[in-house]
Parts: sequence; structure tokens; C-alpha cells
Amino acid sequence: MSLRKAIDDKCKECIYCPLSKGTWRQQVADCASTQCPLYDVRPKSNAKKQGG
Ligand code: SF4
Repeated sequence: MSLRKAIDDKCKECIYCPLSKGTWRQQVADCASTQCPLYDVRPKSNAKKQGG
């Protein structure tokens, strides 16, 4: 597994709620945990291309 995918998967597992608004990428992009070590490298919203 690439680091990129590992980080993506971690953030998705961490914050994504299917019942909340937006795709998982949008929800991760909206993460407010600036103290998290992954904050600066978290996946950013690219929902149009990725389709959620
Ligand atoms: S950056 Fe946000 S979503 Fe990603 S692991 Fe940290 S707290 Fe969770």
C-alpha cells in the first residue's frame, strides 16, 4: 500500500460519516483537527473526479 493510500484510508476511517453531508473527501477536506500529524497531508476534495 502506498503512503498516499494509507493516509487516505486513515482519514476516511477517522472522519467519514455516510449520514453526514458530502463525500468522504469533502468531509476529510473539512477536517478541523489542525494538530493531527496527518492534517497537512490529508486528501483534499477532488470529488468531481473521484466520485466520492
Ligand atoms: S487529518 Fe483529520 S481526518 Fe485525517 S486522521 Fe487527522 S483528524 Fe482524522
